[in-house]
Amino acid sequence: MIDLKITLANVFGFNSFRPGQEDIINHLMQKKSLLAVMPTGAGKSLCYQLPALLFENQTIVVSPLVALMNDQVDVLKDLGIKAERVHSGMSESDRSKAWEGFQNSWIKILYISPESLMRDSMLNALRTLKISMFVIDEAHCISKWGSDFRKEYEQLKDLQYHFPNAIISAFTATADEETRADINNKLTNNKAKIFLYGFNRPNLSLAVQQKYNWREQLIDFLEDRYNQSGIVYCLSRKQTEDCAEFLSKKGFKAIAFHAGLDTKVKNNAQDRFMTEDNLIICATIAFGMGIDKANVRFIAHVSLPASMEAFYQEIGRAGRDGEDSDTMLIFGNDDVYKRKGFIDNSNAPDSFKIKEHKRLDALVTYCNSATCRRQTLLSYFMESCEPCEKCDNCINPPERIQGTEYALMVLKTIYYTGQYFGSNHIINVLRGVFNEKVRSRGHDKIKTFGFGKNNSTIFWKTFIQQMVSSNCLRINIQKYGAIQITEDGKKIIEGDDEYFYRKILLDTPKKEKKSKIGRISSSTLLEEKSLLSALKSIRLKLAKKRGVPAYIIFPDTTLHQMITNKPQTLVEMSEINGIGPQKLEKYGEIFLSIIKDFN
Ligand code: ADP
Ligand code: MG
Ligand code: ZN
Repeated sequence: MIDLKITLANVFGFNSFRPGQEDIINHLMQKKSLLAVMPTGAGKSLCYQLPALLFENQTIVVSPLVALMNDQVDVLKDLGIKAERVHSGMSESDRSKAWEGFQNSWIKILYISPESLMRDSMLNALRTLKISMFVIDEAHCISKWGSDFRKEYEQLKDLQYHFPNAIISAFTATADEETRADINNKLTNNKAKIFLYGFNRPNLSLAVQQKYNWREQLIDFLEDRYNQSGIVYCLSRKQTEDCAEFLSKKGFKAIAFHAGLDTKVKNNAQDRFMTEDNLIICATIAFGMGIDKANVRFIAHVSLPASMEAFYQEIGRAGRDGEDSDTMLIFGNDDVYKRKGFIDNSNAPDSFKIKEHKRLDALVTYCNSATCRRQTLLSYFMESCEPCEKCDNCINPPERIQGTEYALMVLKTIYYTGQYFGSNHIINVLRGVFNEKVRSRGHDKIKTFGFGKNNSTIFWKTFIQQMVSSNCLRINIQKYGAIQITEDGKKIIEGDDEYFYRKILLDTPKKEKKSKIGRISSSTLLEEKSLLSALKSIRLKLAKKRGVPAYIIFPDTTLHQMITNKPQTLVEMSEINGIGPQKLEKYGEIFLSIIKDFN
C-alpha cells in the first residue's frame, strides 16, 4: 500500500488530510466509483487529484467553467503536476498542444468541459487511451433538482456505458437527498458509494438584519473592510450597478457583475477578483461558481437569496482558506414577496415550484430565527451543533418586548382599511401621514389614524416584518402584496393572545471589531501587519510575473503561518503547512529573505 501521506506532503505540501479526504482517496484507490458531498472549501480537488497522480493510467476531470479549469490547472502546474485543459476559450494551437500531450500520455490529468468531452470525435479518441477515472466536479449540475442545472451535464449519463472499465467520481458541495439520488442514478446507475461530510463551516460568522436602508446597513458592515475582498450579492442587475457605484463613491474598490454584461467585461471582472486584493464584487447569482478565491473575507446579501441552498452556497464562497470570515444578510419582506413572485411566474412544473417555495420559506425562517443561526442553518441540512457563540443571536440574544399594544394598532389599521393594502400605506395611516392616497380613500377618518406617530417609519416597517415572520400577518401574493390578518393575528385582536417582538435596533450598535489577522497580541500587531503586507506585496509581484492569482503562489493561511513561525532556514520554511518541495524551491528563498529583514 502506497503511503498517501507521503504524496500529500511531497507533492501538495500538506502535513495532514482534512476530514473525509483520506476515506475518499482510499475508496478511489480501490478503483471504486463514488459521489462525495463536501462543503465548499473542504478540499474536494485534492480527493481526486492525489489518486489521479498515483493511478497508473490517466484521469479526465469534467468541470463546468473555463475559469474553474484554468485555475485548477494553474495550481497543479505550480505543484509540478502534469495537468492540462482543453476548452473553447483557448487558442487552436494551445488546445492541440494540450491534447497532444494527453494523447501521448505525458499529461496525467486533463480538464475538459462536458460538451467537449461528449463529442463523438472526442469519445472515439479517448477509447484508444487508457482512462482510469472520470471526475465530475460540481456534479449537482446534472440534476434538475439541484440548484444549478446545466443541459451539457445531462449528456454525461452515457459516460459509464462508453467507458465501463473506468471509475466515476462525482463531487459537489450542495446536494440534498433527492439530488444525490438523482446524480448517482444518472452517472453510475446507482453504483457509486455516497460519502457525506458536514455542512458546518465554523470559521464563518452568521448575521441577519432586517432591511431599512440597505446602503446604510451595508456601509456599516463594511466599515473596516477597506483592505478585504468580498462579494455583495444583489437581487437585480440594476442593483449590482447601483451598489458598485455607491461603494466606489465611499472609497471602496468595487465593480458590478451580472449575466447581462459583455463576456469580455465579465471575464475581466473575474480575473480582477482572482488576482487583486481588496476588491468587492457586487453581483447577481451569475457570479460565483468557479470563483475559487481562497481569501474572500466576507459575503453580504443586500437582498434575500432564492433559497436556503442558494444562500448556503453563496456564503460558502467566503473563508475557503479556513480563516475567520463574516457573512451578513440584509432582508426585507418586499424581497420575500419578489422571490415568491419569481417562483410563481417561472414555467417550472408545479412540483418544482412547491419545492422552491419550501426552500425559500426555510431561508425566511433562518432570517427570523431568534436562536443560534448556525443551529437553524444546520438543522435544514439535517445536522446539529451546539450554540456557536459566533452568530448575532448567540452574541446578542434578541430581547423580547411586550408589544401587544403596537400589534393591535397594526392589526386594527389593516382591518379598518379592508386588508387591501401593502405595508407602506398601512404605515402612513398609522403615522398620520396626510397624503393623496390617504385623503382619497378617507383613511384619515379611521380610528387608528395617527396612533403610531411616535415611532418612525423604519420602526413600523420592521415591526410589521416581524409580525409577518411570526405568522400573525400574511402577505397575499395573489393580491399584489396586500397584508392580511391570519388566524394567529385574530387571536390577538380578540384578546386571546399577547404579542412579543424582538427589540428593534434602529441605530445598529457598532460591533467591537476583531483583529482580522487573529491570534496576534496588540503590542506586536503593528510589526506583524507590516510583515504581512511585505509578504503580500512580494506574492503579488510573483503572481503578476507568472500571470496567476496571488493565492496560487501561497494562500493567506500560509503567509500567516510564516508570520507566526518566522522561519529562519529553508528547512524551517518547509515545515509550514502548504509548502511542499516544489514551492520551497520556487519561492522559499525569496520569502525567507523578506522575513529575515524583519528580524
Ligand atoms: P472545494 O472542496 O471547495 O473544491 P478546494 O479543493 O478548492 O475546495 O480546496 C480548498 C482549499 O483547501 C485549497 O486552497 C486547498 O489547497 C486547501 N486544502 C485542500 N486539502 C488540504 C489539506 N489536506 N490541508 C491543507 N489545505 C488543504
Ligand atoms: Mg471545488
Ligand atoms: Zn450561534
